[in-house]
Amino acid sequence: MKDPLRDRFYGFDEAKKIQEKGLYAFFRPFNARQETIVKVNGKNVLMFGSNSYLGLTTHPKVIEASENALKKYGSSCSGSRFLNGTTDLHQQLESRLATFLGKEDALVFSTGYQVNLGTIPTITRKEDMIFLDRLNHASIYEGSKLSEASYVRFKHNDMASLEQKLSSCKAPGVKFIIVDGVFSMEGDIADLPGIVRLAKKYNAVVMSDCAHAVGVLGENGRGTANHFDLTDEVDLIGGTFSKSLASVGGFIAGNKETIHYLKHKSRALIFSASMTPSSTAAALASLDIIEKDDSIRQKLWENTSYALEQLKEIGFDTGNSETPIIPIYIRDDIKAYEFVHRLFDEGLFVNPVVSPAVSSSDSLIRFSLMATHTFDQIDKAISLMAKIAKEIGVPLRSKAA
Ligand code: PMP
Repeated sequence: MKDPLRDRFYGFDEAKKIQEKGLYAFFRPFNARQETIVKVNGKNVLMFGSNSYLGLTTHPKVIEASENALKKYGSSCSGSRFLNGTTDLHQQLESRLATFLGKEDALVFSTGYQVNLGTIPTITRKEDMIFLDRLNHASIYEGSKLSEASYVRFKHNDMASLEQKLSSCKAPGVKFIIVDGVFSMEGDIADLPGIVRLAKKYNAVVMSDCAHAVGVLGENGRGTANHFDLTDEVDLIGGTFSKSLASVGGFIAGNKETIHYLKHKSRALIFSASMTPSSTAAALASLDIIEKDDSIRQKLWENTSYALEQLKEIGFDTGNSETPIIPIYIRDDIKAYEFVHRLFDEGLFVNPVVSPAVSSSDSLIRFSLMATHTFDQIDKAISLMAKIAKEIGVPLRSKAA
């Protein structure tokens, strides 16, 4: 009997090759909560591969709020926001977010990925053109592919490249510029001042996905638009709860009319179940914490400066990172896997970012900081990286360079 499905995937060996070398570093099972020390595959390791930048996933107030919501509302809403899946918690979260971000209204989706799938195709039309930074997150690309509008890419954070695309655009409709607020692998910040200047010149709408910027940049973590004092100029602010806000789910914030339209037309919102009550409560509790107390975010920045300085001093190529996301460019897939594997063996969890996610010449280790790391943990992680980099021949920049 023919088995077309098995035949189709039988030859897929991208992952198998790495598994055979004993270097596979994906789907590693965690056996307990994620703090700065985690238990993975039965082994305790230092955690420098989390997106929980503020370390709130285990904060007692977040856990308590989540537990209370679970008891009060049950484990699931069993339906979409549109029908039976909206609780008063979802509505509170939306109004709190709108105020926090300085926008008229906000809408909560079940993931940040769905925010982009549910927003971009809904707000754009056939005659429009979407301008995307080459290094935008996959979900922005997927959302743009689902749109009837056309899209073009411009060089990463390069305003000359963006202007060249804008000025040669023949599409008769609306122009949309969509960028990550902080780039998820590179850790650099979108040039929103440059983008806003061009958006004004070419009458374009600006949308910024602040998944990695909320909780990190701007006043009390209000994100990249706030960081540059451009809240009014950035039309739509998107984001996720799966990073600093210690939950799962996502949001889009903007003017009342756009949010009202999305509520009634966004397919990813209407045809998918809503965030669970406990994850909604966890996001609300995290928002409470960051609004009231900026000291956690300040500690994150102390840790970031401390680590970045040392990594550069050793000669690691950290690209243009200015945030708690620090890429360590290895520029060779196998070497990146080997580095991650050796680090794990000696007690450090970091993530490899290799082809096809990036080109092999841009492969990197994604090293990310949390506010809850101690300087001692950072020292241990970095000295281990320096030792293993030398042993396996990771290229380091000379000090004079
Ligand atoms: N946008 C950006 C910029 C991201 O980095 C991510 C997650 N890595 C997402 C969206 C998706 O968010 P979520 O994990 O909530 O689906």
